Amino acid sequence: MPTPDPDVVLIGGGIMSAHLGVMLKRLDPRLSIEVYEAASELARESSDGWNNAGTGHAGLCELNYTPPPAVAGAPVDVTKAVEIFTRFEQSRQFWSYAVAHGLAPRPAEWIRAVPHLSFVRGDANIAFLRARHAALSAHSFFRTMEFTAERDVLHRWAPLLVEGRAAEPIAATKIDAGTDVNFGELSRRLLAWLGAQEGCRVFTGHRVTHLRRASEGWGLVVRHAESGESRPVRARFVFIGAGGGTLPLLQASGLPVARGLGAFPIAGQWLVCENPAVVARHFAKAYGPPPPDSGALGGPHLDVRHLHGKRVLLFGPFATWTTKFLHGTGRVTDLPASLRTGNLATLLRAGLHNRVLVRFLVRQALQSLECRLRALREFYPEARAADWRLVDAGIRVQALKKADAGRLYFGTEVVTAPNRTLAALLGASPGASVSAHIALQIIQTCFPEKLRASDGYACMKAMIPTFDTDLGQPAAASDYARRSAEIDDLLQLRITNTSG
Ligand SMILES: Cc1cc2nc3c(=O)[nH]c(=O)nc-3n(C[C@H](O)[C@H](O)[C@H](O)COP(=O)(O)OP(=O)(O)OC[C@H]3O[C@@H](n4cnc5c(N)ncnc54)[C@H](O)[C@@H]3O)c2cc1C
Repeated sequence: MPTPDPDVVLIGGGIMSAHLGVMLKRLDPRLSIEVYEAASELARESSDGWNNAGTGHAGLCELNYTPPPAVAGAPVDVTKAVEIFTRFEQSRQFWSYAVAHGLAPRPAEWIRAVPHLSFVRGDANIAFLRARHAALSAHSFFRTMEFTAERDVLHRWAPLLVEGRAAEPIAATKIDAGTDVNFGELSRRLLAWLGAQEGCRVFTGHRVTHLRRASEGWGLVVRHAESGESRPVRARFVFIGAGGGTLPLLQASGLPVARGLGAFPIAGQWLVCENPAVVARHFAKAYGPPPPDSGALGGPHLDVRHLHGKRVLLFGPFATWTTKFLHGTGRVTDLPASLRTGNLATLLRAGLHNRVLVRFLVRQALQSLECRLRALREFYPEARAADWRLVDAGIRVQALKKADAGRLYFGTEVVTAPNRTLAALLGASPGASVSAHIALQIIQTCFPEKLRASDGYACMKAMIPTFDTDLGQPAAASDYARRSAEIDDLLQLRITNTSG
């Protein structure tokens, strides 16, 4: 039987709840925490290894974090890349703490060192990549980034990108400090630790169906999938980390922040290759430029992944239509059921303001397998259809806010109740990579007293040493270099054999 009235309920058993739950329990071991996951297994939605790209987003290879300058010849603005880097660094710090303290053991099973490449074709793109490299490599975070427009160098970095390619200008940057993360594995390890702590329980097959304000905190109704039985649960604090399931719960909460809020699901798909002869010849994540009309969806990439002890190649993602908010436990009625008189206008405005993106999504969804293979061959000219199959990736549920006048919001945003008894996460990007930063934000907003206590402050300093310093400041740079090497050691991040 669950403990009556836990202090904290976390809705959803993905990477976000895992981070928040573990951090809170470490900060205050007396807290009772319950996690409710609707699916029969933990972290099988967006956080699952197959459902996302597993890129440790640190601004190393994603060209959308460094937009081309409006004026030709102007320096490339790297602000966003630096910001993502510092947030990812907080995740790395927390993960190394988790490994050192036995909260997430055997890091080689969920994180790997994988070089991050940005790959471009054509003179204009090469000029941009060169300028981006100049701007990034001037910063201590990206100092080791290399640039090449030489085919033989690029062939050593990523042979599949070069072999069989027509004589066209190509270039790439490479940085060895990149990572491939199985966020699903990491979530399951963290949640296993949490569930074994006194006063904590992790339930699978339990869907939160109702959420309403109670005299102190929140009243929830939780339905057990197998028996169909529902029971009430009360908690002083609730985190809605339900991914695509967040919007309906926020709507049920009646909070002002939910008024006019809509959601727009974009499902993803990958081309997957498991042919060992091909897989053994690609040892990087290679990101291309985002297509011009794709909004902030990001560019296509060809990645080596390490999933459940196996190396595979993924190419994509390709966007496709869905009205479901979740793969596993979602329904085709999710989108229509989320419509309210208050958010219908928001959705329609979003459709009108984002016509170019809508056209892009329609084109993507209607693409044949042959079209997708053509996109792959822009990266890997000699790709054979027989080596590749199409699989589903996760669903990104983009938040649509009334105040944004139709702008599609692609970031991740924490929203909180005015009395700070509830927090929820909207959006999906850069997502899992910044989960430690997101958990920290929630703790700073909703549990500030825990960080004011001297033992709480010391504990947070141990978990995320730079949580209250600006890593981007020059004074922090040398400290960062020393710490970074220690983190690499703990996470066993060493590129020893690029094809291994
Ligand atoms: C195609 C794609 C590629 C991506 N690539 C990357 C990448 O390379 N790097 C990166 O950092 N991020 C990436 N992301 C984003 C990242 O996957 C997500 O931001 C992250 O996994 C979200 O974690 P979460 O815990 O919020 O949600 P989820 O992992 O979706 O977990 C939410 C959980 O809540 C459960 N749930 C829902 N409703 C209820 C309810 N009512 N009651 C109980 N449980 C409920 C769900 O079953 C689910 O298990 C990608 C996403 C997609 C879709």
